[in-house]
Amino acid sequence: MPLRLEPSDAKQSEFGRCLRGNRRKRSVSPTRAGRLGIFTHRIRLFSLFGFDVWVDASWLLLAALIIWTLAEAVFPGFVPHLARAAYWWMAAAATIGLLFSIVFHEMAHALVARHYGMPVRGITLFIFGGVAEMEQEPPSPKSELLMAIAGPLASFVLAGVFFVLLVLAEQFAAPRAVQGTLWYMWFINAVLGIFNLIPAFPLDGGRVLRAALWLWRGDLVAATRIAAEAGNFFGILLMVFGVFGVITGDFIGGMWRFLIGLFLKGAADASYREVIARTALQGVLVAQVMTRDPISVTPDISVESFIEDFVYRYHHRVFPVTRDGAFLGCVGTEQAATIAREAWPTTLIAWIMQPCAPEDIISPGKDAIAALAQMRRAGRTRLWVVEGGRLVGVLSLRDMLELLSTKLELEGNGRTSRGKLRKTGSA
Ligand SMILES: [Zn+2]
Repeated sequence: MPLRLEPSDAKQSEFGRCLRGNRRKRSVSPTRAGRLGIFTHRIRLFSLFGFDVWVDASWLLLAALIIWTLAEAVFPGFVPHLARAAYWWMAAAATIGLLFSIVFHEMAHALVARHYGMPVRGITLFIFGGVAEMEQEPPSPKSELLMAIAGPLASFVLAGVFFVLLVLAEQFAAPRAVQGTLWYMWFINAVLGIFNLIPAFPLDGGRVLRAALWLWRGDLVAATRIAAEAGNFFGILLMVFGVFGVITGDFIGGMWRFLIGLFLKGAADASYREVIARTALQGVLVAQVMTRDPISVTPDISVESFIEDFVYRYHHRVFPVTRDGAFLGCVGTEQAATIAREAWPTTLIAWIMQPCAPEDIISPGKDAIAALAQMRRAGRTRLWVVEGGRLVGVLSLRDMLELLSTKLELEGNGRTSRGKLRKTGSA
C-alpha cells in the first residue's frame, strides 16, 4: 500500500506539532499517523532499482512472532508428523519469503510511480506490511489507478508462481516440508493481494476507488474525501471486530484486527488532510507567503551581542548573515558554542559564520507546495528566500499553515472539509 504518512523523526515532526499547535486557532487537526510513531527506528536493508529498502524495528518483532506462530501452530496443523526442527526451518523460510513478497508488492508500486515521474523516497517495511513513500499526489487518475493496482497485481502474480511451484513439488514428490512452505507462500500472497484491494483509502483498493471517482467527477478533493470516509469506516469496522474478538476469547486475533483498524483509520484521516493542504496551497508562490525584511545579523557584531540581542531575543537557533541586503551566509548557536565564553566579546560573527546549506534556501518564484516538500525533506521549519544574491524574506512553516487555515475558512470547499476534519480528527 503506497501511503503518505507524517514523518515522525524529531525534526520533521515539527510539521505535525505546528498542525497541532494551529488547531487551537480552529485550523487543521493533528496528525494521528504521526503520533502512532511509525518510522522512528529503521534500518536500511538493501537498495534495489535505485530504491532504498528500510525495515522498521517493529518488523523484527513481528518477524519473530510470525516465525513462532508458523512453527508452533500453523505448520504442525497443516503438515503433521514432521520433526519439530523441520517446522522451525519451514517457518524461517516462510518469514523470509513473506518479507520478499511485501518488497515485491511495494516495488511494483514504486516502479509504476517512478514511470509517471512521482518521486519515491524509499520503501519501508513496518509492522502492518510495507509502505512506498511518495512525495506527492499522482498527476492524473490514470497514473493513480495503475500505481495502485500494480501492488495487488504483483501479489497475485507471485501467488500464481508459488502455486505452480507447489503443483510441481507435488508432482515430483518433493519433501512435505517444502510443499508446506510453498503452500503458505501461495496462500499469503493471495491474502496480501485481496486485503489490499479492500476499497478503504489509503489501501490500494481505496486508491482505485479514489481514482475512479476522480475520473468520474474530476475533483481530487471530493474523491479523496469519499475514499477516506470508506477508509475510516473499514478502520472502525475492523476495530469493532477486534474488540468483539477480544471479548469472545480470541485475544491475539482481536488485538491484531483492532490495531490494523486503528492504523487504517489514522492513515485515512492523515491522507485526507494532506490532500486538503495541497489543494489549498495550489498556485500560491513563496513570495506571497514569506515575511519580508527578515531579522538578519551583520558580520561585524560580536558573538556576545549575537547571543544577547538575537538568540535570546528572537529564540531562533540559526540566523542569516547579511550586509546591505547581500546574503553572506548563516550563523547559529552551533557555531557560537565552539567559542569559549570569555572570547565571545572579542570574536566577530564574520569569523564563525558558514555558507548556508542549499536545502535552507528557496527562491521567491517557487510555489508553496514545493517549499512545503523541501521543508519536510530537509526537516526545516524556516527557509531563507534569496533572489539574485540578496535575502528578500524568510518563509516559515507557521506562516504557511496560517495561510492554509485562513484559506480553508474563507473558501467554500474548506468549510465542509473543516467540519469533516474536526469530526474525524477528534474521534
Ligand atoms: Zn499496495
